[in-house]
Amino acid sequence: MDTRSPDPRSRSTDTSVSRFAQSLKSHGFRSWYERQLIISHGFMVTGLLCVVALAAWIEESRQHAALSDQLIGFAFAALGGWFGLQCLREYRRSLITAEFVSGQASCPNCETYGRLTILDAEGEHAVRVRCKHCAHEWLIEDEPNKQLPST
Ligand SMILES: [Zn+2]
Repeated sequence: MDTRSPDPRSRSTDTSVSRFAQSLKSHGFRSWYERQLIISHGFMVTGLLCVVALAAWIEESRQHAALSDQLIGFAFAALGGWFGLQCLREYRRSLITAEFVSGQASCPNCETYGRLTILDAEGEHAVRVRCKHCAHEWLIEDEPNKQLPST
């Protein structure tokens, strides 16, 4: 199979289509994986801080008498709650992606883990890689939802 033939669909929207591949190429697999874990945990901490701030507002709002203060507080709490929820969702998404990609980083031929050269993007969510140990090539995908049922 010729793996080098350009896919016209992926070339036409190369900048957005191959963000996953570009990110892997620029950092290398191990750095990419570490970054994903750091970023996802950053989202988790931010989301938890929002939850703590929300709880603090609920506790604090019991002591306010003025309605205007309570409305302003409610607006901030709703915004913080929404933002916190988005952070926790992003935490879950990026962590699942990191683990999903990491689970495909072992060479199917020699089982060497994470020692791979990033070749080309194949479509929106896949990248072709080559094992540095045995030169076997395979695809790594970044979208677990294609295979796992979403919850
Ligand atoms: Zn190998």
